[in-house]
Amino acid sequence: MIAYLLGLALGATPAASTAPPAQPAGTWVVEDVTVIPADTDEVLAHRTVVIRDGKIERILPQASKTKVKGAAVVDGRGKYLVPGFVDAHVHLSTEGAIRDSKDAAISGLDLGQEHRYDRQIMLNLLKAGVTGVANLGGSAGSDEDLLRLRGEIDAGRMDGPKLYVGKRINGPRAAVAVSPTQPVPASKPESPTTAADGILAVQRARERGYDFIKPYQFLNRETYRAIVEESARQGFITTGHLPELGCASCADRAFAFGHPMTNIAHSEELARFARIEHDLSPKDIEALAQAVSASGMSVTPTLVTLRTIVDMYVHRQVPAVPGGWDASVDAVTRLDWAPPGNRYLSQAFRDQEGADAFSAGYDFARVLTRELWKRKVPLTVGTDAALPGLAFGVSVQQEMVELREIGLKPVEVLRAASINAHRLFDPKAGSGAVRAGERANLVLLDADPLADIQNVGKIAGVFAQGRWLPMAEIERKLAEGEGFERGLQQQLRERKQAAH
Ligand SMILES: [Zn+2]
Repeated sequence: MIAYLLGLALGATPAASTAPPAQPAGTWVVEDVTVIPADTDEVLAHRTVVIRDGKIERILPQASKTKVKGAAVVDGRGKYLVPGFVDAHVHLSTEGAIRDSKDAAISGLDLGQEHRYDRQIMLNLLKAGVTGVANLGGSAGSDEDLLRLRGEIDAGRMDGPKLYVGKRINGPRAAVAVSPTQPVPASKPESPTTAADGILAVQRARERGYDFIKPYQFLNRETYRAIVEESARQGFITTGHLPELGCASCADRAFAFGHPMTNIAHSEELARFARIEHDLSPKDIEALAQAVSASGMSVTPTLVTLRTIVDMYVHRQVPAVPGGWDASVDAVTRLDWAPPGNRYLSQAFRDQEGADAFSAGYDFARVLTRELWKRKVPLTVGTDAALPGLAFGVSVQQEMVELREIGLKPVEVLRAASINAHRLFDPKAGSGAVRAGERANLVLLDADPLADIQNVGKIAGVFAQGRWLPMAEIERKLAEGEGFERGLQQQLRERKQAAH
């Protein structure tokens, strides 16, 4: 209890005296728009939507001819207003990660003073209608960068999606080896093998101001359980990987479902259980779906992630980024996409045990996700970007199409991309629906997403934290970063030449 109270005090926001003041969001009226609230199957045609101070103030029939003093007008005729999309599983590229890198190709790059690198990533997310992202872990410097960015965006000093910053907790590989050839390193909170250090890791995440916990790999049974339980005590949600199977101190299936996280971060985690224990037997689909449903866990299927990995495995190249988005991938991220940085194209990846089951694993995960959906397990839209082939922003639209393809109705896809994510990451801040009183994180579409889910890519503009950003303005702000991007490319080229 003492540690908890202490944690709250330490987790307080930095002194406001040095930071510029928060920027007021302003007032807008979207006229004569079709509203798709997404919390129900309703479609509200010809509405006037008033947005003030970051929130949806009112939604009225267009016929009421509402005029709001001092408001800027957005023409909503022929357009559709839907909740902003949330990427529930992303690993953001950041300046902090570049600073942390020990890779000679990128360490010490000149990133300038304006946080332009981070700005471009945030703008690309908004360009795709992504007004919320959950970061499932990065390097220490990257996390620090994101915790800072979160505050800048919340205060309206920077354009970007609402950030939920997760603390990834990972054990040492040797701790869960089936037949250990290396000694298990001493436990520490940064790499715990005991319940006590698992608990400390969670408490430190609370002190640092993280939003949620990601239990990751190589955690033995007692450590995994301690992390999940301490997170619940601290009011953290957990979204991560299922525990390891097969070693003496590892979990089994009953343990994993008996000590549930809030959310499973990939459907592939369930497919892993099925692959190891039952060689992807179709009979396991129902058993797993039943176990997930009974445990109360929700799932972020990340089907596009699996599709992309399988694609790289089969075709030995990175799949093309959908139309027009290729240029959005920055030069540093691109290094991870090309050999030798891209581990999915390596021989070691091809040679690993179980590689021949990747393709079938994707099929299994799709049918399993369909079964989860039929059992009403809440699903969210996550991408694992910037995994090679998955660009920030547009990958969210790709995953929405994946979910549509396994049977979700378009409105259910919208719900997975918004309401379900809000319920998971930020339930106290409202439902995420397009309703009066909710936060104004919204996307204005040029075409009906209920007629064709691909229309989620036809974006007229975005309300991010209550600020209207028409597509032309997002493009203009992105163009301001072109010089920076060229400078980055030039620095990388010079390093490459110097290395030869
Ligand atoms: Zn991930």
